[in-house]
Amino acid sequence: MNDSNRMLARLRALVIQRGRCSALVLAAMLCGLCDVGVAQQAAPSTSSAGGSVTLFQNVRVFDGKNATLSGPSHVLVRGNKIETVSAQPLPLDRRADTRLIEGGGRTLMPGLIDAHWHAMLIRPTPAQAFGDVGYNNLQAGDEATDTLMRGFTTVRDVGGPVFGLKSAIDEGIVKGPRIYPSGAMITVTSGHGDFRQLTDLPRTIGGMLTRMEQIGGAIVADSPDEVRVRVREQLMQGASQVKLTAGGGVSSPFSPIDVTTFTVPELRAAVEAAGNWGTYVVAHAFTPDAIRGAIDAGVKCIEHGFLMDDATAQLIAEKGIWLSMQPLPEDLRLGFPVGSVQRAKADEVWPGLARSYELAKKYKIKTAWGTDVLFSRALAQQQGAILASLARWYTPAEALVMATSTNAELLTLSGKRNPYPGKLGGVEYGAGALADLLLVDGDPIADIKLIEDPARNFVVIVKDGKVFKNTL
Ligand SMILES: [Zn+2]
Repeated sequence: MNDSNRMLARLRALVIQRGRCSALVLAAMLCGLCDVGVAQQAAPSTSSAGGSVTLFQNVRVFDGKNATLSGPSHVLVRGNKIETVSAQPLPLDRRADTRLIEGGGRTLMPGLIDAHWHAMLIRPTPAQAFGDVGYNNLQAGDEATDTLMRGFTTVRDVGGPVFGLKSAIDEGIVKGPRIYPSGAMITVTSGHGDFRQLTDLPRTIGGMLTRMEQIGGAIVADSPDEVRVRVREQLMQGASQVKLTAGGGVSSPFSPIDVTTFTVPELRAAVEAAGNWGTYVVAHAFTPDAIRGAIDAGVKCIEHGFLMDDATAQLIAEKGIWLSMQPLPEDLRLGFPVGSVQRAKADEVWPGLARSYELAKKYKIKTAWGTDVLFSRALAQQQGAILASLARWYTPAEALVMATSTNAELLTLSGKRNPYPGKLGGVEYGAGALADLLLVDGDPIADIKLIEDPARNFVVIVKDGKVFKNTL
């Protein structure tokens, strides 16, 4: 570290303590104290090494990996990191402003991670989603707070104009989870994510963008060159990974489930552009053809995969590809009106759900968990219950491991585009372990239904070392 860097670090620590990060860093930038690169990255981490201290006494730890709870333990959080996990009582740090939480034998576990979330598309109706950006962001901010209060301290957002919301959360303007943003879903003409009507055709290449594209919800690209432009635009805005839709989807009007949308060269262009930035492409795909094309092109994570066959599951496992699945609730299918195109497609996809989970287990595929809730606040309130519904295929411990350390491992694929460097998904220390923690009134490994009622059962919620809820 040279002198000006050291000075800058001290300045940043100071402004972060005072909670006025962006304004003072901007002032510093104008004075020539910091370069533009630093200013761009000033938002994420919100605590300094010497920040506030929280001591959990007498808790039993679910560490995100092991199927058994620890014996009575004591966990010290300093700043935004877990500093110590100890079987011995820890002394109170009299110098620091220590918050003491007497756990009373309750369970301390990592914050939950949802690997397939659309923070901007929960509260609005489909029509509103393309409407007023200010209104949608305010709604999304309120939903983000609810998300955090459900114990979800991190989400991987796989499509939607989420960059502003993420910044507002990171700057402390709004309470919400850490967001790993993809930005606009990239699709082909008529693909999943192309919400245009037939009256919008034909598109003039290079012509006016649609409303959906202008606000960054989803964007059409029909050649490798167009794909590269759109991928790079998402990366420029801070995408930690890029989302393409490689096959048909349920909710979009003109993408039959059976079709493969992008060509392999188009997908490859996306993988190369993302790879140049040290990150990866995630592809929405249901069918064996769509999945295989994506894998051929170098995609590292398949979303859904519900219509995969045995051989495709085997391929996913052999290649070490991630499969991000969602135990989609029946209510989501029933939410599509009878007789609609969407309902017919949902009826096609849902039966594959159970079989794909069986295949994922059979071939020990690296499986992530998410919800994919869209356009329903009521379903979002079931986020914990959707996780608990994994009990159809997994033990409670396996389900909780998936939603903590396994999902956290998936997030590391973002490499240097990871907006929150450090370790997520565990209760450990010594490896830059970020302090995202839940204190559960009971043992969720013995009774996973506890996570269905976070308002009652999550008595303490900590994100980035800050206590957002404490009812003790
Ligand atoms: Zn989705």
